[in-house]
Amino acid sequence: MLYSEVATALEFTLHKLDSGVTGPTLLVIGGIQGDEPGGFTAASLLVNDYQVTKGQVWIVPNLNFDSIIRRSRGIYGDMNRKFSTLRNSDPEFETIGKIKAIIKDPQVSMILNLHDGSGFYHEEYIDKDENSQRWGQSIVIDQSTIPAKHYGDIESVARRVIASANRDTADSKAQFRLKNTRTREGDKEMEKTLTYFAINNGKAAMGIEASKNYPTHVRTLQHLRVLESMMDTMGITYSRNFKLTEKSVFDKIGSNIQLALFDNKIRLDLDDSRRSIGYVPMKKRSPMEFTANNPLVAVVKSNQGYKVRYGNRGVTFLDPQHFIFDDSLQQADFEIDGKNRLVPLGTVVDVNESFSVTPIKDHRVNIIGFKRTGYSNESGLSIRRHEILPRFSVDKQANKFRVEFYKGKKYSGMVLVNFVGDNKLAKK
Ligand SMILES: [Zn+2]
Repeated sequence: MLYSEVATALEFTLHKLDSGVTGPTLLVIGGIQGDEPGGFTAASLLVNDYQVTKGQVWIVPNLNFDSIIRRSRGIYGDMNRKFSTLRNSDPEFETIGKIKAIIKDPQVSMILNLHDGSGFYHEEYIDKDENSQRWGQSIVIDQSTIPAKHYGDIESVARRVIASANRDTADSKAQFRLKNTRTREGDKEMEKTLTYFAINNGKAAMGIEASKNYPTHVRTLQHLRVLESMMDTMGITYSRNFKLTEKSVFDKIGSNIQLALFDNKIRLDLDDSRRSIGYVPMKKRSPMEFTANNPLVAVVKSNQGYKVRYGNRGVTFLDPQHFIFDDSLQQADFEIDGKNRLVPLGTVVDVNESFSVTPIKDHRVNIIGFKRTGYSNESGLSIRRHEILPRFSVDKQANKFRVEFYKGKKYSGMVLVNFVGDNKLAKK
């Protein structure tokens, strides 16, 4: 799946997992506050790694995308206090209008707003971390029943979800508990929230709070337990492509960041990437355009270059070199480990031992970091890993190298070569 953005405006994205089989529609919202990664990471896993087989799940994994990228609760204040009244001069006025319209969509019958909250909620005072003032490990409702067409008995729905989510949890702290804020009885702060807006528009809505006392991957796992319990309760069926354990969630969220710039003219695999990548060809006098495989990835201008961000994490810094782009080359003939292969530009190819690029009329090849000097065109040479300087790789393990194509002074595109054979520099 690919998500595109023009880097000047980071707008939230709506992803619809539609099974094609009639059933209810659950709307999941992540990232209303930018520094609560458990919620928005869980939402991004739903988008990328779940398949819905009955009903629909709609997901906005990055509602406050600018704040997520800057690891701020809210760069324009708390977005979850902007749902009752808002001046049209507010920088988030349009965003709020758009998410309100999605919440009110007649198809949506349940809304979950994902948060990470402090400590552990408990009705009684256990200790300073576990008491009624805390939010972590709670499902939050505004009132017991709501005037909604579906799931008006919202407290009993929440209790069913909690029972199911807690099924395999022996640790009392980790168990989800119901928190009713009784917003209508005079909680002026809670009246401004997304869920209160939803219930006043006839929609069932709850907040989910994973505990900030846990690291991100554990919070993510906690959210997924509740999300799955909610889908089970609603009769939405699904499958996922990983195990629901701390280890596999950790692995899932730590890997696989694919990025393409300027319509695939630059193609980077940013797993284990270096902190900075130099001489990245960029389009002269043109705004940044990027595509990523994850809705939490963004490329943002920073000083003389661009930062690549993945949720709250920094991935790398791209140090640009500006070119006029040439569109006359779409693919190149390679010989890879002794076999001929036609490789489209903008892709990644695995190489065991060696590769060479067949000479192309009017185009020259530049292998970034190639040790042998004196070649203005590096096509026609058989190249092994040790002939490229490791520090020019895209990744820290020195497996992935850029092969760039030029027509005169114009940049035509690249292929990323991934050496998969034994690497004596590699740690694993
Ligand atoms: Zn929150």
